[in-house]
Amino acid sequence: MIHVNSNYCKGCLLCMEYCPKKVYVKSEKLSKKGVFPPEVKYPENCIKCHLCELMCPDFAIIVEDKDDK
Ligand code: SF4
Ligand code: SF4
Repeated sequence: MIHVNSNYCKGCLLCMEYCPKKVYVKSEKLSKKGVFPPEVKYPENCIKCHLCELMCPDFAIIVEDKDDK
């Protein structure tokens, strides 16, 4: 399970850039902060490498290892 806290996200989209599995797409909806946060579009592709979580400068992403499918 991937959690993106759009209240923390500043819309830099580093997470999207670094994700090797292209799990994210840019959201079409503006967040409260006035940015376009990443949207978890293809969670089934996630390999839980945690790169997105590590790269996020604002600690807006949490990747849970446990799968809730
Ligand atoms: S890296 Fe973090 S701050 Fe940047 S777009 Fe992704 S979630 Fe938002
Ligand atoms: S944990 Fe890895 S594969 Fe999963 S969304 Fe983040 S960067 Fe992509």
